[in-house]
Amino acid sequence: MQILEHFEISAKPETIRVSALHALAYCPRLFYLEEVEELYTQDAAVFAGRRLHAELEKQEDEEWEELFLESEELGLRGRLDALRTRDGQTIPYEHKRGRAHRDENNQPQAWESDRLQILAYAYLLESAHGITVKEGRIRYHADNVVVHVPLDEAGRLKVKQAIQQARILRQSTYRPPVIDNERLCTRCSLAPVCLPEEARLAHNREWQPIRLFPEDDERQVIHILEPGTSVGRTGEQIKITRRNQPVETVPARQIGQIVLHSFSQISTQALHFCAAQDIGVHFISGGGRYLGSFDTRSGSIQRRIRQYAALSNPDACLELARKLVICRGQGQRKFLMRGTRSKAKTEKLEKAIAQMKAVLKQVPQAKSLESLLGYEGNLAALYFGALPDLISPEVPQELHFAGRNRRPPLDRFNAMLGFGYALLLKDVMNAILTVGLEPALGFYHQPRSQAAPLALDLLEIFRVPLVDMTVTASVNRGQWDTKADFEIRGKQVWLSELGRRKFVELYESRKQESWKHPVTGYSLTYRRLFELEVRLLEKEWSGEGGLFGQLILR
Ligand code: SF4
Repeated sequence: MQILEHFEISAKPETIRVSALHALAYCPRLFYLEEVEELYTQDAAVFAGRRLHAELEKQEDEEWEELFLESEELGLRGRLDALRTRDGQTIPYEHKRGRAHRDENNQPQAWESDRLQILAYAYLLESAHGITVKEGRIRYHADNVVVHVPLDEAGRLKVKQAIQQARILRQSTYRPPVIDNERLCTRCSLAPVCLPEEARLAHNREWQPIRLFPEDDERQVIHILEPGTSVGRTGEQIKITRRNQPVETVPARQIGQIVLHSFSQISTQALHFCAAQDIGVHFISGGGRYLGSFDTRSGSIQRRIRQYAALSNPDACLELARKLVICRGQGQRKFLMRGTRSKAKTEKLEKAIAQMKAVLKQVPQAKSLESLLGYEGNLAALYFGALPDLISPEVPQELHFAGRNRRPPLDRFNAMLGFGYALLLKDVMNAILTVGLEPALGFYHQPRSQAAPLALDLLEIFRVPLVDMTVTASVNRGQWDTKADFEIRGKQVWLSELGRRKFVELYESRKQESWKHPVTGYSLTYRRLFELEVRLLEKEWSGEGGLFGQLILR
């Protein structure tokens, strides 16, 4: 009986927020991203709007009355900005920070989305309180005008149609396309996650996108390298307590990630706080192996359903895997070519560069993941075979590279590569979790170890620019102390705590370097590029593909 009651309650369709109808009238895709995919950004305009309402609450006279309304019959709910009585009529008010729309006679009018919103509030008021509401009013604060919007049968029909459209979209796994009016996108708070300009570029390769992607992330990545350190929360700050050192506090808004290396602790309160503040939390072992990330599984299931549907198709996986192998191979080859600019080309380098070109030509014809693995193996063998020729002869012999080895690393160069790839895997996971994709479902790597296949896939396109180049350049610049920066245990070679600290600094500063994306044409840091590539990957199965995996070194 109880179960039945529960079922009846939960079977009722949830009412729609009036503010969601406002988003729907602005752009159906905006409605979908907010209401279905649960994506929100707190941009400056949103904060300014909130501030306006907070100030109004303080300033308004006794007529101010914020009112929550819900009508199951109509299927709407919402919070009115203000309700006033004028000449015996009850009138809902909506406050807007910006200016009113001007018609051809320069008369102030409501914007379409604002019009639908105030009509919806007026109709909701009628439905919830059983009264007649003749109009709603919108006050535009920037030009200090009040626009009257009458509620008539046409207005009520419009609201009902919008509710119906919202219900249909809420049930759909299909993300609506970007709107034609690109001017609306420049003012849209979700442009950084919607990437409308990149979607237009995907459909029209002549399009020159403007960058609506978020500014470069200035927030810190805090690496806790000292064993025995504990991380906690105090108020709105993260508190770091290291052994024999003064306690450090950092405001949460300044932190993008916390990376716990070795045996350090983080409190449950701090974890909850980090989840609420979108601060990534990652774990790396004392030996420099990526262990995992704190995954709160936030965001809607629709994104993952689309990912499952797309990556269950072997042809789609093969196509993406080809792009990945080409992207990585081209990056490796370009790096070898770059290395020859300042030095005389060695025969080995020239040969590898030419052979890699020949292999890369064959990759588009690969008919299976297995044959791709073969091509990838050939490219890797050629690349790593020639990489030692990029190391300057002045570099001490202990730091030279004599071929790839891993788990455990057997020389200093491989110890650095291994630690670098672990940091990279952590950053790729951070981007996947930020975008809300399923890390366990990839298109190339097969699930066989604890590492998430999608993260391993994406790792491939960043290895050369973020790690291989950082290691090679720092070795050639003589930045490593062969004794203090490494620990030798039998045949195994690891970075010491000092070495790891040095590597983290080099790696983080490499991530801050700006770089011009070859497809979108705008500049961004490598740090932002992680997120952009994951979003471009998602576009591959959202009808806006063709831009992913084009990372080519210049
Ligand atoms: S950026 Fe443009 S297309 Fe995307 S949700 Fe906003 S208004 Fe719609």
